[in-house]
This record gives sequence, C-alpha cells and structure tokens, in this order.
Amino acid sequence: MPSSLSHRQLLEPRSLPDALKMLRDEGPLTPMAGCTDLYVALNFGTLRDTRFIDLWRLDALRTIGVRDGVLSIGALATYTDLIRSPLLRRRLPMLVSAAREVGGVQIQNRGTLGGNVANASPAGDTLPVLAAAEAVVVLKSAGGLRQVPFAGFYTGYRTSVRRPDELIVAFEIPAIRGRQWFKKVGTRAAQAISKVVMAGIVQPGATRIALGSVAPTVVRASRTEAALAAGASIGAAQHTLMAEIAPIDDIRSTADYRRRVAANLLASMLTSP
Ligand SMILES: Cc1cc2nc3c(=O)[nH]c(=O)nc-3n(C[C@H](O)[C@H](O)[C@H](O)COP(=O)(O)OP(=O)(O)OC[C@H]3O[C@@H](n4cnc5c(N)ncnc54)[C@H](O)[C@@H]3O)c2cc1C
Repeated sequence: MPSSLSHRQLLEPRSLPDALKMLRDEGPLTPMAGCTDLYVALNFGTLRDTRFIDLWRLDALRTIGVRDGVLSIGALATYTDLIRSPLLRRRLPMLVSAAREVGGVQIQNRGTLGGNVANASPAGDTLPVLAAAEAVVVLKSAGGLRQVPFAGFYTGYRTSVRRPDELIVAFEIPAIRGRQWFKKVGTRAAQAISKVVMAGIVQPGATRIALGSVAPTVVRASRTEAALAAGASIGAAQHTLMAEIAPIDDIRSTADYRRRVAANLLASMLTSP
C-alpha cells in the first residue's frame, strides 16, 4: 500500500555547500535525486525514511567533462544526459550502451548515475561498467572530499562505505585502452531488471570483466581475467567464469541459467568485432 506523505519532511538546498551543511547539521536525511528507486519503495509502503534532502536542483553535479585526462561524470547526470554526451560516446561508449538499456524514456530522463550506484542493487545496470572502467567514487561531506576506488565502495548486499553525511558527487574514470563491451540480459528488451549484466574491456593481456546479478554485489571476474591473460582459450575461460561466479536462484532466474548466460556473454564479448 502506498505510504503516507503527511509525516514526511523535504529539505531543498540551493547549492552543494548548503546540502552538505544540511546533512551535517540536520541529519539523518535521505538524499533524493531522480527518485525513481525511492518512489517505488514509497509506493510499496516499504520506505521507512521520513526526512529527505532533494538534490535535483544541484546542477553543478550534472557536469560531464575531462580534467587532466580523467573523465568526470557528475552524480546527478541522468541516463538521458549520458546518452546525449558526445564525450561519453567517444570515451566510455559502454556506459552509453548501459544507459540506453535502463527502463524507458521517462526513467532515463529522471534516473541518475549516482542514484543507480547509491541504491546499490546488484542488478544495477551501470555498476559493471564502472567496475570494469575502474572508476573512482568521489564522496563529499561538509568536512571534505574522499575518493574511493569502485572496487572498495560496496561492503555487502546493498551496503557501501558512504557515510550518512556524505553525498556521491562524481565518478572519475581514467583513460581506457581496448575495446569496450556491454550486454544486459533480461526478460525482454526494455523495462526489465537484469538476469545477468556484463561489461568488459577487451585488450591483449589485460582484459577486464565485470558482472551484475550474479552475486550480492557487482563483481570483477578476476580469475577469468587472469586465465585469459595467461592465454586460456575461450572455452577454458568460460569454465573458469562459471566456477568463479556464485549466482542464486530467485524470482527472475535460476543460478544455472545465470552461469550459462554469463559464459555465453563472455564468448560473445571475446569474439565480437
Ligand atoms: C520502471 C523502472 C524501471 C527501471 N529500470 C532500471 C533498469 O533497467 N536498470 C537499472 O539499473 N535500474 C532501473 N531502475 C532503477 C532506477 O531507475 C535506477 O537505479 C536509477 O538510476 C536511480 O536513480 P535516481 O536518481 O532515481 O535515484 P533515487 O531514487 O533518487 O535514489 C536512489 C538511492 O540512492 C540514494 N542517492 C541518490 N543520489 C545520491 C547521491 N548523489 N549521493 C548519495 N546517495 C544518493 C538515495 O538516497 C536512494 O537511497 C528502474 C526503476 C523503475 C521505477
């Protein structure tokens, strides 16, 4: 049953410093970006949080640019922003591919990259891209800024190192060499949660592979990467991958299906032009 709004409070900062002060002085507050995940919980009656801080007007967090060779994507960049960015199409096409597969146009117009990461679902479609790209999560509080490698951001199922007084403000992505690849497998082509989602960078001796929906958090397939670097055949790498991941049976799929799909995706990634 949809939750009542009457006992809930919304703070509306006008700038990032304002927002960080509110988080420090008036917390705990739940950040609200595009609200596409939060609204689902509100509608199901499972959202317990009562005090929110609306980030939507903080346009400074929407910037996509390059500084000192490092790509920086603001946490409030929507999927539509990502899809429309010529810079991203050149530098990080696998993120553009992922953004195109998220929800429908309405969700792409509201849903943000920061929201996808902070929501911390193992099925989040952009997470394998950020893992394969070895992104850095930039967190800011009134006390300062810290940069956390994406590999160390999640601490378990739907938990992360982000403190309640911090916001994700950006993602930094070093220059990438090699061919980028992304594929999501869901029940249908659009508006589906992933059964398996994979992103990778194919380069001789240093192929990177990241998967979602096969573990409690997004994972890098490091054993498979090492096998490929050591010259394993595609078939041998597929076996390593199937042994390496630990998917579960759930409402969307079975563990066995997920293993087979992951192996097929790997072959497809390694052989596609
Ligand atoms: C119909 C529908 C289809 C969808 N399809 C997909 C899909 O195909 N693939 C997919 O991956 N997801 C999908 N989603 C989920 C959702 O749209 C995405 O996860 C989206 O990126 C969430 O972003 P948001 O800005 O709306 O987050 P919000 O709902 O505003 O917030 C989500 C969580 O992140 C926190 N948060 C948000 N921004 C920040 C920040 N900057 N710093 C710290 N914490 C923050 C919030 O407190 C909250 O806990 C779908 C959702 C719906 C309703």
